[in-house]
Amino acid sequence: MIYALDKVAPGTTNDDTLLYGVEVKFYNMEVEVDSHLETCLKGLYIIGDGSGITHSLSHASASGVHAARCILAQ
Ligand SMILES: Cc1cc2nc3c(=O)[nH]c(=O)nc-3n(C[C@H](O)[C@H](O)[C@H](O)COP(=O)(O)OP(=O)(O)OC[C@H]3O[C@@H](n4cnc5c(N)ncnc54)[C@H](O)[C@@H]3O)c2cc1C
Repeated sequence: MIYALDKVAPGTTNDDTLLYGVEVKFYNMEVEVDSHLETCLKGLYIIGDGSGITHSLSHASASGVHAARCILAQ
């Protein structure tokens, strides 16, 4: 991958390039929620990566906004 990247971004394989390591991610098991992100326990909403549904900063943030809008719309 590094050699392939060097073709796109020459210099990537330079001797002084510092590699920290491979990124590994583990995700939570998915919690069962409805389209409002509400669980079977009425009033309990699960947002962000703890839900096992979102896997990124923007997705996690948007899930909070979504749940808040659903609560406000009730
Ligand atoms: C190595 C790595 C790299 C990543 N790179 C990217 C990237 O480049 N772009 C991207 O979009 N996403 C990236 N992500 C994913 C992103 O970080 C998460 O999707 C996002 O942070 C999830 O947000 P969240 O608010 O759901 O959870 P978190 O950001 O994990 O927030 C949960 C918070 O709850 C706190 N907490 C936990 N238990 C308790 C408790 N009992 N009481 C009180 N507080 C508690 C924690 O301390 C934490 O602050 C990366 C993740 C990792 C691990």
